[in-house]
Amino acid sequence: MNQYRDFDNYLKEYPDENGRFGAYGGSYLPKELIPAFKEITDAYETICHSAQFINELRRIRREFQGRPTPVYHCERLSNYLGKCQIYLKREDLNHSGAHKLNHCMGQGLLAKYMGKKKVIAETGAGQHGVALATAAAFYGLECDIYMGEVDIAKQAPNVTRMKLLGARVIPVTHGLKTLKEAVDAAFEALMKEYKTAIYCIGSALGPHPFPMMVRDFQMIVGEEMREQFREMTGLFPDAVTACVGGGSNSIGTFVPFLADPVDLYGVEPLGRGTNPGDHAASVTYGSKGVLHGFESYLLQDEAGEPLPVYSVASGLDYPSVGPEHAFLHDKGRVNYVTVSDEEAMEAFYLLSRLEGIIPAVESAHAVAYAMRWAREHCTGSILATLSGRGDKDIDFVVEQYGYGEQYAPRKAE
Ligand SMILES: *Cc1c(COP(=O)(O)O)cnc(C)c1O
Repeated sequence: MNQYRDFDNYLKEYPDENGRFGAYGGSYLPKELIPAFKEITDAYETICHSAQFINELRRIRREFQGRPTPVYHCERLSNYLGKCQIYLKREDLNHSGAHKLNHCMGQGLLAKYMGKKKVIAETGAGQHGVALATAAAFYGLECDIYMGEVDIAKQAPNVTRMKLLGARVIPVTHGLKTLKEAVDAAFEALMKEYKTAIYCIGSALGPHPFPMMVRDFQMIVGEEMREQFREMTGLFPDAVTACVGGGSNSIGTFVPFLADPVDLYGVEPLGRGTNPGDHAASVTYGSKGVLHGFESYLLQDEAGEPLPVYSVASGLDYPSVGPEHAFLHDKGRVNYVTVSDEEAMEAFYLLSRLEGIIPAVESAHAVAYAMRWAREHCTGSILATLSGRGDKDIDFVVEQYGYGEQYAPRKAE
């Protein structure tokens, strides 16, 4: 139990004033961008303590986002698997369909307080783009979204939503034409526009202060679920799990539980397998390196260049991970595990068929791990963050995998 004591003052200690979580994080920026990030750091450090900002964000979460989102007990899925109880934190019910709105509403409000006119970002699955376009419309800000051409083709409904919400979607046509290239393009745009625009990153990564800021805005997820689960059961869950792409829904889930006697599992995408290029499991298979302005675990070749990554879930295919995860991994407080495309798809179909919840394929990774945990244990409970809904994925899933009869019983057994 003593290991949990280490985390009593965690939020006061991490990150340090240089934005470092132990050996990770920090800020690796071209000279021209240092003032832009310093400006955001200074503004955030003042504004985040103001009662006006806190109260306004609270009101927006309640009235616009629909928070708190519920915790749900999956009785049929639990019974189907055995004796363990699986619970879900329903971030899919957050307005716009995923947890990403939590940090976008926070960053948008910060932009407004800083007097900026525009928000700039990249997007992979399109979820961050939709969330940011939503926040921009709410706050009356302009919104430029950079997106790889491959993802644009895969996520057409999200592209339509962004445009309907008034955002400009700018296609990125170099390299693998996915998330990594889109991040590069958004950084280039920021260099030209930072006087009037603020960059809004899509996960708990990037140069300081973004890993801290996104973590702070996402902690509402873990804080709510901790209280809600205790209200429902009078206990702590034995285990808590969330999927790890860049690491925002998971860090927001984990941090409020760090000082509790609860096992924490971050789920990385194993894609097609362990060969380089077939997965995006950065903590599990990566090594220390710098990408996009921060230090963390990185999937890299011998020359330090990021390796290509793959997952069925385009929101998870990033070659690095938020620096706080690297730190919590080395501390031994969070266990990082992997789930393959195949296992995630089984969870996707089972949750749809048995519970009436179509999850995002990203979130299906967390459900798949909860299912594995439930199969391996005879008692206890696991609480998984369902980061988003699967509406954006259904056409792609049915085209690639059909209706999943091999996984999911049509009727209760
Ligand atoms: C983007 C996304 C993720 C992965 O992002 P994190 O920053 O790791 O949380 C997971 N689930 C959904 C639904 C997403 O849209």
